[in-house]
Amino acid sequence: MAPSKTRPKKPLRLTRQREAVLGVLRATTSHPDAAEVYRLVRERLPGIGFATVYRTLNWLGENGLILELRWGAAGSRFDGNVARHDHAVCTRCGRVVDADVPLPEGIPQAAAQDTGFHIEGYRLEFYGRCPQCP
Ligand code: ZN
Ligand code: MN
Repeated sequence: MAPSKTRPKKPLRLTRQREAVLGVLRATTSHPDAAEVYRLVRERLPGIGFATVYRTLNWLGENGLILELRWGAAGSRFDGNVARHDHAVCTRCGRVVDADVPLPEGIPQAAAQDTGFHIEGYRLEFYGRCPQCP
């Protein structure tokens, strides 16, 4: 994914479906995958289909209303918190938690210097085993 994409602002229309999916993601810190989002959204909108939930997740992500955390074949996890923050990922059970870690200043500047990129954002991921996984 491209964190904090900048694109021309157009008015965002929040349909009932979009609002429901956004509501589910803002109400949890569990970073659910699409199947879990689908399960949770159906508690609010029982008639909604998986394809609609999937499309809606893409739309919300493209418009910067949610974060999509992508790990290749492992599939995406979704986050209703779009403020810059970092994550820890359990390599055994797949749990994803927010990692509130103070980072040294100047990381984006150092990356800009090293790569020549205009840096728009960054994401740090910690890997290891969570407390539930011995
Ligand atoms: Zn675990
Ligand atoms: Mn998060």
